[in-house]
Amino acid sequence: MSPLVQPRLINGPYDDPGLILDFRHARRAILFDLGDNHALSARELTRVSHVFVSHAHMDHFGGFDRLLRLSLHRDGPLSLSGPPGFIERVEHRIRSYTWNLLDERSADCVLAVAEFDGTALIRAARFPARRAFAREDATPPDLRPGLVHDEAALFIASAALDHGIPSLAFRLQERMRVNVHRDGLAALGLPVGPWLNVAKAAVREGAADDTPIVIGEASIPLGRIREHALAVGPGQSVAYVVDALGSPANEAAILDLARNADQIFIEAAFLDEDRDIAAARRHLTAGQAGRLARRAGVRRMTPLHHSPRYLDRPDALRLEAEAAFGSEP
Ligand SMILES: [Zn+2]
Ligand SMILES: [Zn+2]
Repeated sequence: MSPLVQPRLINGPYDDPGLILDFRHARRAILFDLGDNHALSARELTRVSHVFVSHAHMDHFGGFDRLLRLSLHRDGPLSLSGPPGFIERVEHRIRSYTWNLLDERSADCVLAVAEFDGTALIRAARFPARRAFAREDATPPDLRPGLVHDEAALFIASAALDHGIPSLAFRLQERMRVNVHRDGLAALGLPVGPWLNVAKAAVREGAADDTPIVIGEASIPLGRIREHALAVGPGQSVAYVVDALGSPANEAAILDLARNADQIFIEAAFLDEDRDIAAARRHLTAGQAGRLARRAGVRRMTPLHHSPRYLDRPDALRLEAEAAFGSEP
């Protein structure tokens, strides 16, 4: 069962944190955090449809300009979500440039920006390129509590962690995966076509076996297609946790968000021996990261966002996180 998205760290563990979640079968990607993104090609960045920013510290938001610049040539919405105050941060970045060359003939790019308070999207605004990115108020989508994003194939949950300021952690959850067996299709004598998406959506929604699926002039019961031509499996889940104090409240929120995830990308900023510095800067230690990943029952852990103070022993943080997680050295 191939997953819908392929998660990949944008940079090395000592560089700005960020994750790209590339869709395997579509020209599309999602970003967690928007720090330095020069390691991504222009083509990869133009594929980005949604960006989720943990907080507006520069190492998590400094890459906004490059994304905006590439967006000037594309049509359609680019969605950005972040913590309370995020819309104003985006607006300040936009307003620092001169936009006299934008008009109705420009590409129809719209930045759709929303703020998440840990429970719900509380505020939204739009910045259309054809109006020189003038700010327009918008209504935030009304999602299930705890979600920042929801679409047919996946949803994204978020928790607001204490980093002195709110810092959002994210979990992308694919819904049930439905793959097509070409051989099975051929055996049924059915063509490939858009009807397959209808059938896959019906399976995901738990439709009954006798649900009719229309294929051209014909109609076939869903159960027959499911039995011979579709493979169903659980969806992948990917958690992303950065910049958070190792407090009991944060730990509880991280465990809730990351529980049983297939993979977690988690900050390992300081060594346990420097836990006082970590607490003062409101970051996790590598040991805390590894223990949290183990307690959450995740399958794979990737530590990131290392403090440069350990550059002379570059593996120390990873090794401490892995030892606490219990994986092989
Ligand atoms: Zn920070
Ligand atoms: Zn940071």
